[in-house]
Amino acid sequence: MKILVTGGAGYIGSHTCVELLDAGYDIVVIDNFSNSDMAAIDGVKQITGKDIPFYQADLRDMAALDQIFTDHRIDCIIHFAGKKAVGESVAMPVEYYDNNLNSTLNLCKAMEKYDVTKLIFSSSATVYRGDNPMPLTEDAALGPINPYGWSKFMCEQILQDAAAANGWSVVLLRYFNPVGAHTSGIIGENPRGIPNNLIPFIAQTACGTHRELNIFGDDYDTPDGTGVRDYIHVVDLALGHIKAMDYCNKNTGCAVFNLGTGKGVSVLEMVETFKRVNQVDVPYAIAPRRPGDSATSYADPAKAEQILGFRAAKSVEDMCRDSWGFNRR
Ligand code: NAD
Ligand code: UDP
Repeated sequence: MKILVTGGAGYIGSHTCVELLDAGYDIVVIDNFSNSDMAAIDGVKQITGKDIPFYQADLRDMAALDQIFTDHRIDCIIHFAGKKAVGESVAMPVEYYDNNLNSTLNLCKAMEKYDVTKLIFSSSATVYRGDNPMPLTEDAALGPINPYGWSKFMCEQILQDAAAANGWSVVLLRYFNPVGAHTSGIIGENPRGIPNNLIPFIAQTACGTHRELNIFGDDYDTPDGTGVRDYIHVVDLALGHIKAMDYCNKNTGCAVFNLGTGKGVSVLEMVETFKRVNQVDVPYAIAPRRPGDSATSYADPAKAEQILGFRAAKSVEDMCRDSWGFNRR
């Protein structure tokens, strides 16, 4: 089977490429390097010892897609490519909607034109409304609060309608908080500029890049007052895509699954675990709450477990150790 991996040079895409190649799939990668570079592709080649057909192109460029689908008989698409920074999406909504929606629409057009019937889409827990009871099941109320979340919500709707009309098999995967890195330390999360996300900021603080971590709020209604999230190791997440592909091969229609561990971990627990397993210091200060943050968010992972046979295996310790293995280089 040949898989087109969009955004395959990115954080989750590159880890998924490794798992796909290790599982014996052929892959083709497209990425415009808007948030990545060749190092991740080289890293995937180094880890797997395999070559990768790679196209540096933008998914909004239909001629580039024609070229790929003419060069290769694609059986399934895993669609990671997208812009993902919440704050940036508030400042640049038009760019976000243009990139995330038109990329998805172009892929749908290519699927119709080249008779590709299977697609797996990177969605996000940000599509859920903030006031749902925990844990979040797939039928919890939807209601994003920023343009990034809305772009995911809209892509989900587009893909659901296209799957129904064309008899496709589409799987929407709502990721919770992907963290960690490949155990080799060769690929990992390499954000541009100052990281917004917790784990990259912790790792850079441990490296001395930042003087201290700001913990955004210690007065939430959580056991220690800091925000609680469902962190999932990126290699577990990557393996979830292999399970989703098995499902796509046997079913048609549009299905949605949470990919999380089901376990809520607080900011302070994460900081303390990172310090303990890596024997490093992570100075921190309590700062005001970050606008838009919820107190608690974690998945009900039961549907993915029952239907896909997916269960995250790696611990919070693994996440902290592997994140440091990549960042301390
Ligand atoms: P990433 O930025 O590391 O990877 C995305 C890749 O897509 C980048 O390499 C970028 O260069 C590429 N890209 C963006 N727009 C493109 C376009 N128009 N044409 C071609 N390539 C393009 O992000 P990631 O963390 O690996 O996330 C992958 C997907 O998962 C995204 O869709 C993201 O929204 C979603 N997601 C991520 C998280 C997270 O916390 N990392 C959580 C939920 C969902
Ligand atoms: N967080 C923090 N300091 C930071 C970054 C994040 O305290 O520098 C907290 C944030 O308030 C949330 C958790 O860490 O409770 C996870 O935030 P992240 O941005 O990684 O993911 P989110 O769940 O917001 O998408």
